[in-house]
Amino acid sequence: MKKAVIYILLLSIILTMLISCSEDNYILPDSTVYKGGECCLYNDCVYYLNEGHIEYYSIATGLQKSICFDPLCNHTDDSCIAFCGDTGAFFSFVCEDSGGSYPIIYVSEKRDTQELNLAIERIDVENQKSSFIIENIPNIASQLYIYNSYLYYTAFAPVDGSDSDDYRQEAFRVNINGKEEAELISSEIDSGVNLLNIEDGKVYLYDDFGYLHYYDTYTNSISSYDTLFPFCKTVYDGYVYYYIDNGMQSITEENVEVYDILKKEYVPFQMSVQNYSLYRMELGETDEILIANSLKIGTSLPIYNGCAYILPASYSYLGQYTYYDTLYNMEMPATCYFTSNQIESVNLSNLAITNIFTNGNWEISSIYDVTDDYILFGGNNIKAQYDAADYNNANSNIVAVLYLIKTGEFVELGHF
Ligand SMILES: [Zn+2]
Repeated sequence: MKKAVIYILLLSIILTMLISCSEDNYILPDSTVYKGGECCLYNDCVYYLNEGHIEYYSIATGLQKSICFDPLCNHTDDSCIAFCGDTGAFFSFVCEDSGGSYPIIYVSEKRDTQELNLAIERIDVENQKSSFIIENIPNIASQLYIYNSYLYYTAFAPVDGSDSDDYRQEAFRVNINGKEEAELISSEIDSGVNLLNIEDGKVYLYDDFGYLHYYDTYTNSISSYDTLFPFCKTVYDGYVYYYIDNGMQSITEENVEVYDILKKEYVPFQMSVQNYSLYRMELGETDEILIANSLKIGTSLPIYNGCAYILPASYSYLGQYTYYDTLYNMEMPATCYFTSNQIESVNLSNLAITNIFTNGNWEISSIYDVTDDYILFGGNNIKAQYDAADYNNANSNIVAVLYLIKTGEFVELGHF
């Protein structure tokens, strides 16, 4: 008798679950998260923005091509699927698996009109079709992610409704299949937010005060952690990864001498560089685990195959030139230096650090993506700039650099 009651109870619970699943558009737990960024890798090609056009670079052929396949199109207006307008540095991008040779790309774009007219567009490269997910949003969207039929993004929006003059970065989501209105998901958080990652159905948001929250896509509610994390970069596999600023550190370059005005003599050159430490903490726990010291803080922290990819604090000496010091009325030597010029990986199980490359040509700002064969990073070719006759205008603002691990080659892709 007891057993029968339990069975009936269980059956009714299962039935209730099934009914609520079908009614509430039940979210599959194994859905792929498509992470946004400045560029993406798909099918051994890198997709990136080049002066308002979306192009791709084929690693197999070494060719760069427009995602618009029409040979008669000049790719200069809204009729072209590759044209994004002047989105510049605010550009955000995410590639979804189309099942074909080319991805579906979601992109924040500025439409080619006189007025400020911003949108998020969905471009099916395989079928050469594009459509707007959202048209006429007031501020450009960034930090685009795709998860389970929703596009998640951040954008500046008024704090208390459309009449407020007080703006902050809020998180939104919009269904990618329909023509639904975008839904504000960060209104319960009392500051601006950044979208760090989506994992296990949770959209991790990091607020301006240094606190971590998540939007639960199953319950559509916000939960918050009460630990303060300085410079939080990602949540990965149940851990939160964050940096702590130790101030600046000084590295002495014995081979380069500079004239010390106070001592009135030449001294070994000292370079001040960033000094951040990377830590992680299991979500909901309080134990802080040190991962690495003496780092430059990157705008992102990629974790791939059990390794985090980090930027050691470093600099490149490219040469010496003289400048005229107006205070002392004399010719002074100056050096040209930048941080950082190397990428390292740190194995998260034993914290062993491996140098991937050191190359003084690059000032690396961020690592976007890592695979077994490539590393995609953002940075400037400072050697090319230094060597160029017109120093200030040469080759700045490269969108992405592809490093081929096996051959050690660097491929520069796209410019703002
Ligand atoms: Zn075109």
